[in-house]
This record gives sequence, C-alpha cells and structure tokens, in this order.
Amino acid sequence: MKELKADVLVLGAGMVGVGAALHLQKRGRDVILVERHARAGEETSYGNAGIIESASVFPYMFPRDLAEIARYALNRAPQVRYRLVDLPAFLPWLYRYFLASAPDRALRGAMAVLPLIRRSLIEHELLINEAGVPELLQRKGWIKLFRSESSLAKAMREFERARQYGVEGEILDARAIAQREPNLTGEFAGAIHLPTPGFVPDPGGLAKAYADLFERKGGRFLSADATTLEQVSGGWRVGGKGGGGNSGHGDAAVAREAVVALGPWSDLVFRRLGYAVPLAVKRGYHLHLAPHGNAVLIRCWMPIRASCWRR
Ligand SMILES: Cc1cc2nc3c(=O)[nH]c(=O)nc-3n(C[C@H](O)[C@H](O)[C@H](O)COP(=O)(O)OP(=O)(O)OC[C@H]3O[C@@H](n4cnc5c(N)ncnc54)[C@H](O)[C@@H]3O)c2cc1C
Repeated sequence: MKELKADVLVLGAGMVGVGAALHLQKRGRDVILVERHARAGEETSYGNAGIIESASVFPYMFPRDLAEIARYALNRAPQVRYRLVDLPAFLPWLYRYFLASAPDRALRGAMAVLPLIRRSLIEHELLINEAGVPELLQRKGWIKLFRSESSLAKAMREFERARQYGVEGEILDARAIAQREPNLTGEFAGAIHLPTPGFVPDPGGLAKAYADLFERKGGRFLSADATTLEQVSGGWRVGGKGGGGNSGHGDAAVAREAVVALGPWSDLVFRRLGYAVPLAVKRGYHLHLAPHGNAVLIRCWMPIRASCWRR
C-alpha cells in the first residue's frame, strides 16, 4: 500500500467534487479526488435532468399556503412523497426549512446564491470548451409546461418576480406550444419558455469529461471509501483500509485540507467527525424515453418538474 500526498483531498467525484477539484487545481493546489466508484459522475450527477439552471433564481421553498401544505402532507403532490414512519427523523430539519422559507429569509438566501446562479452557465461553457466536449451543451432553453390554469398562474407570478432579477422568458399559449414543439401532444393551459438555461444531454458524461480534464492537468483519482477519513497530525487521511474502493488497490492519501462533496452521503463523514450539518436527503427519479418514430422534441421540457427529454 502506498501513501499519496497532496494539498487537498476532495471526497466524492460527482459534479460538485469534480468542479471543486478543477477550481482548486486552477489555484495551484495539488488535488486528489477520492471516489468509491471507479469513475466520476455515477450517482446523482448521472441521473439528473441536465438543466444548467441559470434562470432559477428562487429555490424550492416550504409552501406557506395551507391547501398546498395539506397536499404535501397527504402525499398528494407529485413533488413530494414520504413515509409517516420516517417523519420523526426529518421533522427537525423540516422545521428549519420552514423557518428558512419565511419570505424575508428566502429572499436573502436567494440573493446570496444569485451570483453563483448567474455564473453557472458561463463557468460550464468555459469548462466544456477546455474539456473538449462542446456536444454536451445545447442552447435551446427550457420549456415549463402546465396542464392547469392554476399551476400556470402560480408559475407566472414566480416568473414575474424572477424577471426583476434579469430572467428572460416568454409565456406560450397552446398554439405557441404546438408551433415550437409540433410533436408534443396533450392538453396544456400554457407554458413558460426560458431561453437562457443550458441543457446537458448526458450529465454523467459531462462529470466524466471534467474528471478526465482534471487528470490530464495532473490531478490524481483515488478509488477509496471516504468514510475512512480521519484527522491526522497536519491534516487528513483517507483510504488504505482493506482494499479501498472498487479499483481495490487500497492506497491511502493524506493532505492538509479536505473537501466533503459526497452529495447525499456527506453526513456519513460529517456526523462521524462531530459536525452537525442540517442536511436532509430526497430521492429523485428520472426516465429515459425513446422517441416515437422520428417524433422528437426540440427543447428540454418539464411538465410540472417530472422529467426531461433526452435526445
Ligand atoms: C431527478 C433529479 C433531477 C435533477 N435535475 C437537475 C437539473 O436539471 N439541474 C441541476 O442543476 N440539478 C439537478 N439535480 C440536482 C443535481 O443532480 C445535484 O445537485 C448534483 O448532481 C449533486 O452533485 P454532487 O456532486 O453533490 O453529488 P453526487 O453526484 O451524488 O456525488 C457524490 C459522489 O460521492 C461519492 N460517494 C458517496 N459515498 C462515498 C464514499 N463513502 N466513498 C467515496 N465516494 C463516495 C458518490 O459515489 C458520488 O460519486 C437533479 C437531481 C435529481 C435527483
């Protein structure tokens, strides 16, 4: 077993870990990316809808409307499904989420994140070019479709608010939807076309392309279990226990600093080390749909946040 040395260990090679590793590298740090899988981008960063959400100014907030809360509580909303038996475990987090969603705090949070949101597409464009994978970015925007007048009206109110922060878009009626997407069938109350968000047809492929770029620029990838992270004199040590991750070589790595980017698994490391980070995990799903003959959609669309068409 070898013991590798670096400036920083980045734990988790999803989009967040790979992005952090590349930026640390740009600042001259020697970085080791630690991942349990043999390759980057195999988990959440593989199965997402691939939208670079440069128009999503306001994150999803705990609703204030009693009827909406009741729909969630009764498992009647497509956005949330929970089991009553799990409620005690996430109730304290839910309460903090409720408090953080108060209008003034929500606005403060959104404004704090806004500079990141605005830069998201610019940053990806730079990295995508550097990684040499321009085919992984499409610039056709994103259409949000609404079946009911009430959901369309709510989305339009949110859109008007986002417009104040520079978000561009267009409201489409049924005829305009049919013109933009002639192969789309169904009854829709209307849609909002956001032209600026980028669309990544293969999000896992993009994380892999970024990880390849990181390695080409001298970064190292270690397949190991990040939950072995321990504090040692002068920094942090990971791996080297019983064969490590899938590659089985079992090397260890030490560095002065560590970045935890384990996505939904981050708490496995935080909690063991005594950090109380208010983190709750929600499950997400995606579907791969096959085109019917040559009937394809031109843009990325999302009927009430269900899924995204991949071409
Ligand atoms: C259905 C769905 C749709 C989404 N759509 C969008 C979208 O359109 N646009 C958008 O911006 N976001 C979207 N998201 C959110 C986005 O996917 C996530 O925010 C992002 O992928 C999180 O990246 P991450 O690097 O934090 O986590 P992950 O990609 O989960 O990476 C964590 C990494 O840590 C590794 N790991 C875990 N435990 C260990 C361990 N013990 N040892 C070593 N390694 C370990 C995992 O293998 C994994 O590679 C969506 C999410 C879902 C679920």
